[in-house]
Amino acid sequence: MAEIIRSIRGMNDILPEATPYWQVIETILKDVLAGYGYQEIRFPIVEKTELFKRSIGEVTDIVEKEMYTFEDRNGDSLTLRPEGTAGCVRAAMQNGLLNQTQRLWYMGPMFRHERPQKGRYRQFHQIGVEAYGFNGPDIDAEMIMLTARLWKALGLKGVTLQINSLGSTEARLAYREVLIAYFEQHQSELDEDSQRRLHSNPLRILDSKNPEMQALNDAAPKLIDYLDEESKQHFEQLCQILDSVNIAYEINPRLVRGLDYYGKTVFEWVTDQLGSQGTVCAGGRYDGLVAQLGGKEATAIGFAIGLERLVALLEATEALPEIKQTDAYLVAVGEQAMAQAALLTERLRDELPGIRLISHCGGGSFKSQFKRADRSGARWTLILGDEEVSNQTIGIKTMATGEQQTIKWAELPSFLSQ
Ligand code: ATP
Ligand code: MG
Repeated sequence: MAEIIRSIRGMNDILPEATPYWQVIETILKDVLAGYGYQEIRFPIVEKTELFKRSIGEVTDIVEKEMYTFEDRNGDSLTLRPEGTAGCVRAAMQNGLLNQTQRLWYMGPMFRHERPQKGRYRQFHQIGVEAYGFNGPDIDAEMIMLTARLWKALGLKGVTLQINSLGSTEARLAYREVLIAYFEQHQSELDEDSQRRLHSNPLRILDSKNPEMQALNDAAPKLIDYLDEESKQHFEQLCQILDSVNIAYEINPRLVRGLDYYGKTVFEWVTDQLGSQGTVCAGGRYDGLVAQLGGKEATAIGFAIGLERLVALLEATEALPEIKQTDAYLVAVGEQAMAQAALLTERLRDELPGIRLISHCGGGSFKSQFKRADRSGARWTLILGDEEVSNQTIGIKTMATGEQQTIKWAELPSFLSQ
């Protein structure tokens, strides 16, 4: 026998037992987003490699070691998107959406060649949200209020909000020098990644996941003490709005985010219930990116939620949403009954839009059909034999109680809508 071909490590199948939860969660997320006026945008999964290099930054985990990059048949270098922001900006720019303000969202798979572990996969899913053309802290606050409402709508508990400001480019440049000087004094304590980044991208050292770097990073000078006046005001106003709507937050001076394009506001929603992969949602302002990608100056802010982590957290906190069960499963035995089954079930679907009705296919004995009905999780089993057909009746078994009764076909729609 031929060997079974298995999936790629870190790329998971989401099976039928799990997809109903994903669907409900996605619907809740979409409804909240629509409630704030955000519109969906869809863009390709593959883009030119250059797009990600230029936006995410050359000296980042993603571009240095996580991208799925390949040459296509024309010899062009393409990359499976590791995140959505770059593609979203590209699509908005290319299609003239940036001439006015935009509130956008997208959802789909992202690809990063990381070491697979709980909460960290090579194909994972994000819902991403971006807003373009808004300068003030009001939109930063809106994004955060929106995420807080998402958690509320999902019944999610146990996430806390961390915020920080990365300031203006100039402020970051000044801070960069201070940080380099600090790390140079502790050069022997730096791990290999940090050594390499010391001069190319020292802020990224603060984002290190290496626990041995923790103490050194904790004692490092803080960017928030080097902020420019405008960023400081922007941040203070954001905090005021969050206070006014009672959203609790913690200011985390070491929150720098792993991507190059951020400035001013950054934020993360974190949990301690998923081990070390505890960031469920992350984002921030990236006012410079549009110009960096060749467009006209346009301010921007966005965030992304990791859906695998969100689902895992809902599961861990026993807050998975309720999913719809099958209403009825129809079993049919006998020539007349089998001939009638299609007509009867189609009529029910016409009369009761939204009914979840499984019609047994493939024949077989009552016993084997009942077994299937049982396994389907249906609330009722509808039983059709030749005798029922000649009387225009149908047997109904209520699966929870085992109670059985016979009713007229004409009564079925009202029975099933109880
Ligand atoms: P981390 O610090 O955990 O590596 P990140 O800063 O690289 O995250 P972002 O690029 O900000 O992550 O992506 C936003 C969110 O997407 C993360 O907060 C997380 O929930 C999710 N995410 C990122 N990478 C993965 C992955 N490899 N597997 C599953 N989810 C992921
Ligand atoms: Mg990462």
